Amino acid sequence: EQQQQILSLDQVSKRYGRIQALNNVSFTVPAGSVFGVLGPNGSGKTTLLGIIMDVLKANAGTYTWFGQTPHEDLRKRIGSLLETPNFYHYYSAIRNLQITAAVKGRGEDDIERVLQLTELWERRDSRFSTFSLGMKQRLAIANALLGRPEVLLLDEPTNGLDPAGIAEIRELIRNLGQQGTTVIMASHLLDEVEKVCSHVAILKKGVLLTSGHVDEVLANEDMIEIGAADL
Ligand code: ATP
Repeated sequence: EQQQQILSLDQVSKRYGRIQALNNVSFTVPAGSVFGVLGPNGSGKTTLLGIIMDVLKANAGTYTWFGQTPHEDLRKRIGSLLETPNFYHYYSAIRNLQITAAVKGRGEDDIERVLQLTELWERRDSRFSTFSLGMKQRLAIANALLGRPEVLLLDEPTNGLDPAGIAEIRELIRNLGQQGTTVIMASHLLDEVEKVCSHVAILKKGVLLTSGHVDEVLANEDMIEIGAADL
């Protein structure tokens, strides 16, 4: 079975002074997966996302995107919410997306597609300022999807949302996976990863404990040793 690799990390380490934020981390993200990077606060998730987005430099190790050494052209294939878009509060959802579409050279068909996908089509003419936090997060995802990325990076995508917003975002992420967009998401919530992800890598204090299919990893008895209760 040949499966394209979206992202592969090989022995990546990162220090901040005396703090070893990542220690020889290696794992592979297969195409079409919803890949959870799971770990408690301070385990190195955000640092890892920063490195693969090239905003932080690793002290050691390498990584590849789509089997290639990172270069500028690959950036177009990666969508991310790491830099939150600056939406105009007094503009409608669709107007905000039209601005991004103009920058990225996308058309009305793309705007409609991402509004449908995020279930914001009905609310497209509402002002951004009237949106709930969950809707704002969905619009941010819609905005990132406008570029038609092959992979979407999310850092704690349900943080700060109410239960309805959390459920909506989780469903959206599952749908993205089903439609073939690979998703890489950081989370400190074990139940979120169980509900949403097909694959997981578990980090603790910068060390990769295990990675693989969610079903296999989370069924493992070692989860008790790993300290699943902390997650
Ligand atoms: P959180 O969910 O709280 O953001 P995390 O799993 O994303 O946690 P990181 O933010 O990557 O973890 O942090 C990993 C470790 O590196 C922590 O001990 C943190 O205090 C430390 N750290 C992160 N950024 C810096 C920095 N800029 N300078 C110094 N130490 C840092």
